[in-house]
Amino acid sequence: MVKIAEVVARSVKPTFSVELWPPRSPASAMKLEQTLPILEELHPTFTSITYGAGGSTREKTHDLVVRIKRETSIEPMAHLTTAAHRKTELVLILERYIAAGVENILALRGDPPLSGDVELPPGELGNAIELVKLARSLGDFSITVAAHPEGHPDSPNLEIDRIMLARKLELADMAITQFFFVADDYFRLVDDLEKLGISKPVLPGIMAPTSLKTLEKMVQLSGAKVPNRVWQRLYGAGDDVEAIKSIGVEIAIELSEELLKRGAPGIHVYTMNEAATTVEIYRSLGLG
Ligand code: FAD
Repeated sequence: MVKIAEVVARSVKPTFSVELWPPRSPASAMKLEQTLPILEELHPTFTSITYGAGGSTREKTHDLVVRIKRETSIEPMAHLTTAAHRKTELVLILERYIAAGVENILALRGDPPLSGDVELPPGELGNAIELVKLARSLGDFSITVAAHPEGHPDSPNLEIDRIMLARKLELADMAITQFFFVADDYFRLVDDLEKLGISKPVLPGIMAPTSLKTLEKMVQLSGAKVPNRVWQRLYGAGDDVEAIKSIGVEIAIELSEELLKRGAPGIHVYTMNEAATTVEIYRSLGLG
């Protein structure tokens, strides 16, 4: 039984964890088969597995989580979202995880898919706090939640967003942040939570901006701000795809170095199922 939040809280050295997507096509399934063993060699503290908005990857997420649990040395954390779900559906999903021995979940509200303008119904539970409560009532889960260093785009202001996050973290065990590019935003979040009486681990989520198109989509969806200096560095590479990739990795490494130097408990890399980028970040940080 591995409770990821406890492992992170007790770790004397920075943790290194990764996020994976369940594959949606034969080509992406093949890519994952190549990526998974490479990531396993890095001995990440855990890997989280995303859940497609509205349940679009329900079985695929479940199968990948259970497979990683049974067939690899990596501890999986299953993402689960409330959007577009009835409570009974969420109960079934959580009970299946209990039966499979999966005890780490990331409880989320959910967002529309990256590729479209799909409107998602809110779901019976409405927000992530209610999903945390439901999971607690069903089993002995270690529960992680999402945090938004710049505030969630739906919040009327940052103060209210922090209060909502503090309430969520009173019930949950740990948070992982949305991606961001300014280290001060992360430390302001941690300080604000401490003022509200919360000192549970908050892992910074790191996304290497290796593609302008993907970054633009992610920004549109998450509301995250990208500083001009980041855009300038990326656009400075013109149409050179490889140059953009290596600048993106450099940006992620610089941010991670600053976060770890200033006391972040670890880093959580949004791998987008790209092994090479993740390995480069890992090696440059000397985490091995
Ligand atoms: P919530 O905590 O529910 O908050 C959403 C908004 O509602 C906030 O503005 C909050 O302040 C407000 N709020 C919360 N509770 C209340 C309340 N009681 N009363 C009034 N207002 C309230 N999306 C996916 O679809 N699949 C994924 O796998 C996925 N993985 C993610 C992983 C991480 C680490 C992160 C940071 C995000 C991920 N997301 C994923 C995106 C996430 O679903 C979105 O950011 C979503 O818009 C908000 O999710 P949340 O869990 O933070 O929502």
